[in-house]
Amino acid sequence: MTTLEERTAAAVEDHPHLIGGEFRPARSGEWLDSVNPATGAVWARIPAGDAGDVDDAVRAAAAAQPAWAARPAMERAVVLRRYAQVVREHAEELWRLDATDNGRAATEARPAVLGGSMQVEFLAGLAETVTGQTVSVRSDALTYAAREPYGVVGVIIPWNAPLAMFLAKATAALAAGNAVVVKPPEVASVSILAAARLLADAGVPDGLVNIVCGEGRTAGEALVDHPGVAKISFTGSTATGRRITQRSVVNLKALGLELGGKSPNIVFADADLEAAAAGVSAGIYTGSAGQACIAGSRILVQRDIYPRFLEALREKAAAIRLGDPLDPGTTMGPLAFDGQYAKVRGYLESAPREGAETVFGGRAADELFPADSPLRAGYFVEPTLFAVPHNGLGVCQEEIFGPVATVQAFDTEEEAVAIANDTVYGLAAGLWTSDLSRAHRLAARLQAGSVWVNTYRAMHWAVPFGGQKQSGNRPSNGPDALDEWLEHKTVWIQHG
Ligand code: NAD
Repeated sequence: MTTLEERTAAAVEDHPHLIGGEFRPARSGEWLDSVNPATGAVWARIPAGDAGDVDDAVRAAAAAQPAWAARPAMERAVVLRRYAQVVREHAEELWRLDATDNGRAATEARPAVLGGSMQVEFLAGLAETVTGQTVSVRSDALTYAAREPYGVVGVIIPWNAPLAMFLAKATAALAAGNAVVVKPPEVASVSILAAARLLADAGVPDGLVNIVCGEGRTAGEALVDHPGVAKISFTGSTATGRRITQRSVVNLKALGLELGGKSPNIVFADADLEAAAAGVSAGIYTGSAGQACIAGSRILVQRDIYPRFLEALREKAAAIRLGDPLDPGTTMGPLAFDGQYAKVRGYLESAPREGAETVFGGRAADELFPADSPLRAGYFVEPTLFAVPHNGLGVCQEEIFGPVATVQAFDTEEEAVAIANDTVYGLAAGLWTSDLSRAHRLAARLQAGSVWVNTYRAMHWAVPFGGQKQSGNRPSNGPDALDEWLEHKTVWIQHG
C-alpha cells in the first residue's frame, strides 16, 4: 500500500462526466477540486456541470430508456447481476476511492462495496417480481392496474456514503426499467464515477446511467427543474429536501425524500451496559464519524446508571483510533470536507455557551496530531460527549453530522419517550433494555422509521428503511424496493 505522503504527492486526477456512454468534461470546461479530507490536499478534479450538461444527460437517458424497458425483466436482471460481479472484481479500487474522497474508514468503506454488490443482486431479483392487480367490477370489462417505469429519473446523492448509495439507487431504478441521471455529491463524486465506468463492462447499454457532477445549486437544481425528468429521488439534508420540494411545486414532479435525523439512543438501567456502551459508541462515533443520517446523536440514560454508563462510554471512545482512512488500524476517519469541519467545530464552541458540559472530547485535528503529521491539516474531530440540562438546546435539536453526542439523564420510561420524540426528525431510535415488554411498548411509541432494540445501525437491503416526520416521505429497501421507481396505470378493456 502506498503511504499517505506518497498519495498526497501524487498527481491530481481528472474524473469526467459519463453522458450517453461518453466520458467528457463539463460543457463549460470548468472543474471542481476534490479534497482528501484526511490531509486537506486536492487529489482529484470533477467537472463543474450545469444545466447544459444535465440536458445532454436527460436526452441520452430518454433515448436509451424505451429499449431497456422493453427487454424482458429476466434480461435486465442478468445484466444487473453481471454488474454486481464486476463491482466485486473492482472492490479494492472502489473502496479506496470512496475512503480517500469522503474519509470513511476502511473498516466501513471496504465491506460497503461487497454489501453494495449484494444489494445490486437483490434488486436484480426484484426486477422479475413486478406485478399488478385485476379488479372484478363488471362482467363486460377487464380492469387491471399495472405498474410501469417512470422513464427518466433523477437521483441526487449526499456525500456520507456516495458509492453505496449510487449502487443501491441507480440499480433499483434500472431494475424497474428506468434510465437515470445521477448527481453525485460535489465533495465526493469520484467513487461514483469509477463505479459508473464499470457499467459498460457488464453490458449496461450506453445512456441508461448518466453521471453529471457539479454543485447542488447548479447541476442539482437543473435536474430538479428539467421537464424530461419524471421523478427525483433525493437523499440529503432536510433543508435541501425542503428546497427541492418548493421547486417541484412548479412542475409537480414525483419526489422520493430520504432526509436528516437526530436519533435518540436510550439506555435503561436493566440493559447489558457493556453491549450498550459498544452500540452507542458505534452509533455516533465509529459509524462514519457521526456523519450518518441514523447517527444516535442524543443519548438518554436512566439516572441510576448514569455515572457508570458514562464511564463505560468514555472507555469505548478512548479506544477509537483516528487516522488515515486507508490504514486498516484506523477506526474513525475525518469529516468529509472543510465546510462540515467548520460546522462541527462551531458546535464544539457553541454547546458550552448554551449550557452543555463537556464530558469528554472536544478537540480537533490541530490538537490531535503532531506538528509534522500530514493529518494535522485534515478534518478530524475526536469523539465528543456533551451533558445537557434539557433537550431544548440547539446541540440537541439540530443535526450536527459529526462525532458529537449529547447525553441526558431520565427517570421514567414516560420521560424517556417524551424526550426521544421531542424532535422534528423521525429517522431512527435505539433502545437498550432486558425487559421484553418494555421493548415492545417503546418500539410502538417511538416516532422513528427504524427502532433498534439492543443493537444499533443494523441495516439490510431486504428490510425497509425510511423516515417518519421530517426525515423522509417513503421507505426504500425491502421486498417493495422497486415501488419507488414505478408508476401506476389502470386499464379498462370493454369486451362485452
Ligand atoms: P445536502 O442536502 O447538502 O446535499 C445532498 C445532495 O443534494 C448533494 O448532491 C448536493 O449537491 C445536492 N443539492 C444541494 N442543494 C441542492 C439543490 N438546491 N437542489 C438540488 N440538489 C441540491 O446533504 P449532504 O450534506 O450532502 O448530506 C448530509 C445529509 O444527508 C444529512 O442531513 C443526512 O442526514 C442526510 N442523509 C439522509 C439519509 C437517509 O436515508 N435518510 C441517508 C444519508 C444522508
